[in-house]
Amino acid sequence: MIMIFLGPPGAGKGTYAKGLKDKLNIPHISTGDILRSTIEEGTEIGKKVKETLKKGKLVSDEAMMDLVAARVEQDDAEEGFILDGFPRTLQQAKMLDDYLLEEGLKVDLIIDFDLEDEKLIRRLVNRRQCPKCGRIYNMIGMPPKNDELCDVCNIKLETREDDKEEIVKRRLRIYKRKTQPLVDYYSTREEYHKFEHLERQEVETVVDSIMELIRNDNIEVKT
Ligand code: AMP
Repeated sequence: MIMIFLGPPGAGKGTYAKGLKDKLNIPHISTGDILRSTIEEGTEIGKKVKETLKKGKLVSDEAMMDLVAARVEQDDAEEGFILDGFPRTLQQAKMLDDYLLEEGLKVDLIIDFDLEDEKLIRRLVNRRQCPKCGRIYNMIGMPPKNDELCDVCNIKLETREDDKEEIVKRRLRIYKRKTQPLVDYYSTREEYHKFEHLERQEVETVVDSIMELIRNDNIEVKT
């Protein structure tokens, strides 16, 4: 079961992937999360990655493909995985196709989440994340129960450095230039599905709709 989550930053890819991974028993592979843990390690590579992320720019295609290949080869991804934030350029999509072909694997579902720019900006600047469990909140739409504390870990939520308004706007510009061409690349494939009007739907409803797609497409899921 291999899924690709496409869509601009702030569309909710991470939130939906977190809702789905336990139902499907496969890992949620967020390249942004992997890069942020590389930064935490404080290595020379980590320092370079930090500068790139802080500016809202993209890490090189080759480095990203290597990182994803290393991650999907781990044992927990044997039955499949959800890719969130990768591929992000046409070159990455082509590299991923070549990689999967070589490994004898294929993508089962490509979900393209869409939302208008003003809503994305509002969501991103109000986004908070628990530094411990990674749970994502939104101070307007999905706030925590107490102040700015995680409902589960009870520790202070953090704002990502690249969720500042001017960086968010740059990330959206880069998304349109580099990632949106991927929609044309994938949209003619039968695995491709577009999800729109997300602001009107609960997270659970979207997750259920994806589960429904999996059932209707007769995609085999081992749970
Ligand atoms: P995200 O958490 O998906 O919003 O990613 C945060 C940042 O990590 C992005 O703004 C990029 O700087 C970097 N990044 C994540 N995934 C990729 C990718 N596939 N290619 C290049 N850079 C990436």
